[in-house]
Amino acid sequence: MIANRWTEAEALMLQQAAGDDPLARELALRVYSSRLIGRDPDLVQHGGGNTSLKSTARDTFGEEVPVLHIKGSGWDLDTIEAKGMPAVRMEPLLRLRALSALSDEAMVNVQRLNLIDSAAPNPSVETLLHAWIPHRYVDHTHATAFLVLANLPEVAAVTRELFGDRLTLVPYVMPGFALAKAAAEAFDRNPAAEGLLLVNHGHFAWGPDAKASYDKIIEHTNLVEAWLADRRPAPLVPAAALPVADLAPVLAGLRGALASVQGAGDPLPVLDLRGDEAERAFVARDDLERLATRGVATPDHVIRTKGEVLVLRRGGQSPEAMRGAVARYADRYRAYFDTHAPNAAEKKTMLSPMPGLVWLEGAGIVGVGANAAAARIAADLGTQSARVRADGEVAGGFFPIGAADLFDMEYWSLEQAKLGKGKPPALQGRVVLVTGGAGAIGLATARAFSAQGAAVFLVDRPGTALDTALATLGRDHGAHGCDITAPGAPAEAVAACVARFGGLDILVSNAGAALTGAVATLPDDLLRQSFELNFFAHLAFAQAAIAVFREQTAARGTRGAEPGQILFNVSKQAVNPGKGFAAYGLPKATTFFLLRQLALELGPEGIRVNGINADRIRSGLLTPEMIAARSTARGVDEATYMAGNLLGAEVEARHVAEAFVMLARAERTTAHVMTVDGGNIEAALR
Ligand code: ZN
Repeated sequence: MIANRWTEAEALMLQQAAGDDPLARELALRVYSSRLIGRDPDLVQHGGGNTSLKSTARDTFGEEVPVLHIKGSGWDLDTIEAKGMPAVRMEPLLRLRALSALSDEAMVNVQRLNLIDSAAPNPSVETLLHAWIPHRYVDHTHATAFLVLANLPEVAAVTRELFGDRLTLVPYVMPGFALAKAAAEAFDRNPAAEGLLLVNHGHFAWGPDAKASYDKIIEHTNLVEAWLADRRPAPLVPAAALPVADLAPVLAGLRGALASVQGAGDPLPVLDLRGDEAERAFVARDDLERLATRGVATPDHVIRTKGEVLVLRRGGQSPEAMRGAVARYADRYRAYFDTHAPNAAEKKTMLSPMPGLVWLEGAGIVGVGANAAAARIAADLGTQSARVRADGEVAGGFFPIGAADLFDMEYWSLEQAKLGKGKPPALQGRVVLVTGGAGAIGLATARAFSAQGAAVFLVDRPGTALDTALATLGRDHGAHGCDITAPGAPAEAVAACVARFGGLDILVSNAGAALTGAVATLPDDLLRQSFELNFFAHLAFAQAAIAVFREQTAARGTRGAEPGQILFNVSKQAVNPGKGFAAYGLPKATTFFLLRQLALELGPEGIRVNGINADRIRSGLLTPEMIAARSTARGVDEATYMAGNLLGAEVEARHVAEAFVMLARAERTTAHVMTVDGGNIEAALR
């Protein structure tokens, strides 16, 4: 059941924070209940749903004019603010109802022309529908329970059984002017109703104040939810979750197979697997193939998930089988495009034929996206729509809009606008694993890759530093805690990365520690310990990463533009010995050799291997105590010591991070070591 989250204390606090202006106070409540709705994924998800308030505003001449505050495009209800609810003059919106038709472009134009603030975001595509319902507060959701009801073949009878006259049915019409008209006419037929049920789409409710409208949303949704709960059978008990070591090759293969229908220069997609018991139970159903082609639970899902789901049964999860299944999916998608595109008013360009959702038997529901955020959104919508399908099938059937309506929605310019325009960042969708990711250089490197659109996976010792590092990067990144010198730990860490994002594109093998001692008397165990961290861990990570690169490429069937990269943090010490640093320099020199050996052996596969030689960076390897001791020993102050290079400027972790990103983007560079030390002739590479 959906909880009613309204509290008087919170409502009062927000009103007080809004000040004395009564208009600001009622808008504060509008924002409050919008957020309460947005916070519940069983009410709305990812830009779905919208809310409004009819109020007044003062124009430039100081005159009070009636306005509609409506959710602005690009805002999500869970985080909406007052500025995300632009005010549009009501009078022109009301006059529009007299027109018999209005193009999308003209609708967007007239809505923008009548904004009180010309810099405000575009008002929602459902603005007119809100405007023409004469209640002060209007709320619209795509609640899970309502999506089940809205897609039942017997939707009219069930709605009447549950609600009597309290909800009015609106037959399916694509959002925009025509839907607003149909909804307004439905409203006029039964003005005493408490809300609307938009067939194949969602739910509307309203009220004289924010709480009354919100209460109706919750009450109506729970009425449907209770009805569904009575019909819901005990869920299937799925097999145990696959161990990560078994799951990772399947996902890496899937990632490569999905990319087989992309252009050769396109990066691999990012995957987001939801594999809890509920999702595994769903993908164990025997009717998946039938359900996969039915369509989406609510029309705007199509731009995130596509209309059809790719089903991969256990027996069809080899790289070749998956590539074949993806190719057949793409063929069906092209046929769908070729069938419906000629009916469109203007010429359409086909989107990528790659699936947006995969039902992977044994594993769960996989969201597919050009980056981690898109994959997450597809997975969120995919898990919700799986529940809609499952509940719908026992309650009479899941029968959403058909292919022609789906096409209109998928290729609707106003929906495509939600996905944003412009060139994606240079490393969009690349999966980057950074060892030592919680340290100064590792985290700076993670940030630098993230800023280029990459999905970053941090590996470091478990604990607060790692948790904090991940938290600063944000939710579309990942982390794994382990001691990388433990046997098998690098392979496990790489598998965890593949489980999180579906694969790996760039390994930044960065972790290291400087152990010291004069070489003549160096204890054997100290040197071996240093070799474990400063050489063998690098080797093991490289080997595990190469295995993933090869799985992805094999499943893709052709070599992509960037079939994998390895970047090592070597060290000045590898070429320019410092007194007492043999225990560090010996393994680092070996890692330097490893870099060149790997570049030689992997070049024919297109896998590039490069590294950085950095020096004198404030980090776990150069602590404040060490800086104090060394600067004292040289008789200079700390700033002079840190800037002791040709440029006379301290080199920071971010400079190393930028160099890693540059190497990652240097398409024809391999076997190269870039020095980042501010200039040091003695340590310069020949
Ligand atoms: Zn909607």
